[in-house]
Amino acid sequence: MKKLTLLLPALATVFAQDAASLLREASVRAAIEFAAQNEDKVIAEQIEICEVPAPPFHEKQRGELYKRKFEELGLRNVRIDAEGNVIGGRPGRNARPNLVFSAHLDTVFPPGTNVKVTRDGSWLKGPGIGDDCRGLAVVLGVIRAMNAAKVETPGTITFVGTVGEEGLGDLRGVKHLFGSSLKGQIDKFISLDGIGFGVANVGVGSFRYKVTFKGPGGHSYGAFGMANPIHALGRAIEKISDFQVPSMPKTTFNVGRIGGGTSVNSIAFEAWMEVDMRSADPASLREVDEKFKAAVQQALDEENARWNQNGRIAVQIETVGVRPAGKTSEDSAIVRTAVAVSSALGLQVTLREGSTDSNVGMNLGVPSITMNSGGAGRGAHSLGEMFDTTDSYKGTQRALLAAIALAR
Ligand SMILES: [Zn+2]
Repeated sequence: MKKLTLLLPALATVFAQDAASLLREASVRAAIEFAAQNEDKVIAEQIEICEVPAPPFHEKQRGELYKRKFEELGLRNVRIDAEGNVIGGRPGRNARPNLVFSAHLDTVFPPGTNVKVTRDGSWLKGPGIGDDCRGLAVVLGVIRAMNAAKVETPGTITFVGTVGEEGLGDLRGVKHLFGSSLKGQIDKFISLDGIGFGVANVGVGSFRYKVTFKGPGGHSYGAFGMANPIHALGRAIEKISDFQVPSMPKTTFNVGRIGGGTSVNSIAFEAWMEVDMRSADPASLREVDEKFKAAVQQALDEENARWNQNGRIAVQIETVGVRPAGKTSEDSAIVRTAVAVSSALGLQVTLREGSTDSNVGMNLGVPSITMNSGGAGRGAHSLGEMFDTTDSYKGTQRALLAAIALAR
């Protein structure tokens, strides 16, 4: 035990020295300086990208703009994959390791939302301006600075704009990236998401379902004696309500919406609920998920047995969202490096949990983190979202140094 506690600070020192010595390399220093001098361009692109709408499942227009940006910056093999992710490579001296450096294209806002960005002093206001137009613009800023300073990396960096990160998008872009378009080719994964200077190394997973009980239904008096979907739903909710779950790792469950029935004097032909379960621990999430499925089946069986299988009902469990859980160890090179490059630039880092694109990599055991991309702000996911550009260049610098340090 004692050995371990001695080892950890020593390791931290190694990564800190790496970050500091990187900063002494002429091309890296030039790139960092370029980022400080050219933050205006990053902010201009942040606005430009944000004014192209990207509602859930409709990221195409913004994706095409992003593809043009990748082409203008000289990335290789720039393409849009079958899911809509924009991909472009910056080859290093070797093909591997391959670092994927990404931000997400989609927003939570529906088609027709006014996406005009307004500016008031250092503040920008517009839906999506921080989440994740900031990340998208910083990715471009990183490429530009590396090009301007002719930074060469031992490994390759693949830059990506992903689709479907938010809500019912259900991480469909990044799932496709790991499962198909870059399958087996991702050695490290970074998502730039959100504002500030946090680093997320824990991915809270979630399972979401819509459960529907269905039967013949009938008159509440005339047809009395048959199974009732609403009663079955009640039985299921009663069982779920009594679940015992660990507080460490935090594991949660919630019946969020219910519905069904047609009138007070009818045996319903349908009743439904929407259920959400979460945990940062894959095993705990699986456990509560199994309990949930058993509870639904048991509720169905009990309701059918109660009425001797008369007016027999059935149940359908529809998956509406799966965010895999995972964790990249605090002691992993990728987390240590993210912390070390932050310290080298005088930035304090807090490690935290998230539910972002990097969940997928964490779940697969690929070293993955989500880094905030600098600046400050408020109102993410609201129409009044705001971003403060004060000293935001520090976020660009940190992303740049992390990319260089990890592309090896
Ligand atoms: Zn986001």
